[in-house]
Amino acid sequence: MRSAGLIAAHEEMFRCPICQSGMKLADGQSLQCSRRHSFDLSRRGYLNFLSHPAKAKYDKQLFESRKRICSSGFFELLHEGISERIAQEGSFGSELIKIADAGCGEGSHLARIREKLIRKMSAPVLGVGADISKEGILLAAREHPQAIWCVADIARSPFADRQFPLLLNMLSPSNYAEFRRILADDGMLIKVIPGSGYLQELRSALYGQTGRQGDASADTEARFREHFALVDRESVRCIVTLDRPATLHLVRMTPLSWQADEERLQKVMEMNAMEVTVHLIVLYGKKQS
Ligand SMILES: [Zn+2]
Repeated sequence: MRSAGLIAAHEEMFRCPICQSGMKLADGQSLQCSRRHSFDLSRRGYLNFLSHPAKAKYDKQLFESRKRICSSGFFELLHEGISERIAQEGSFGSELIKIADAGCGEGSHLARIREKLIRKMSAPVLGVGADISKEGILLAAREHPQAIWCVADIARSPFADRQFPLLLNMLSPSNYAEFRRILADDGMLIKVIPGSGYLQELRSALYGQTGRQGDASADTEARFREHFALVDRESVRCIVTLDRPATLHLVRMTPLSWQADEERLQKVMEMNAMEVTVHLIVLYGKKQS
C-alpha cells in the first residue's frame, strides 16, 4: 500500500501523542510507540491518532463543497502567492521539502500548494496533513494519496520536535505552542486569515448592512505576533464570479451561513450567479530568537 510505504519511510517524523516516545510502523497496519500505544493505519490510507472521534462540527457535505470551491480556482491567487513566497525562501537544508498543514480539512490547500512547489522548486515535496475531522481526512486520503494524512488533534500533535521547515495553518485555529515545537528552528509558519473584505457580498446578502460585520483579523494577527516574529505579510484580494452550483458550495462551506436567516439564505441559493470578494491575509512567521 502506497501510504504504508510513505509512512514507513518517515517513521522518525512521528511521536506518540500519549507518551511522546518514538514510533514504528508495525505490520504495515499501525504505528506503535515503544510503550505499545498503537494507532491504526486505515485501509483508506490515513493514520488515526484519535481514540475517540471528535464531535463532527464539520460534516462530509461541507468538505465536499470546500473541495469543489478549491478546485474551481477560488483560492488560486492565494496558492500561487504562498508557493511563490516559499520558492523565494530557497533552500530548506535537505533534498526533500516537508510541508505540514495543521487543520488541513479535506486537504485541498495542501495538495495544491504542494503541486506548485514541486514545479517551482524542482524538488520532491512531502505533504503531511492533520485534522481533527475524520470526514475531512477521509476525503483527503481518497483524493490525494501522495501525501500523509492524519486524524489528529493539533493541540496534541503526533509529530516529533522540529520536523517541518514549512507549516501551513489555513483559515483554521492555531496552537502556537505546538506549532513552535514541530517547526524546524529556521522554519516558516504560514497562517492564512480572512481579510476585512472576505466574502463581503455574501455577508451583506445574509446579514444586511448592519449585522455581523466584525473583523477579527487584527486580533488574530496580534496573537500571531505574540508567538512568532512576523517576517512577511501579504494581502490577497480578487473578485470571483460564481455560478449557481458554486454559490451553493460556497454557502455550504462557510460558517457565515450557519446562523443566517432562512429566507435570506434561500434568496442567495436561488441566485444564478454571484460575485464575491476573496480577501485573505497571509502571515509569514519565524521563531523568535
Ligand atoms: Zn506512547
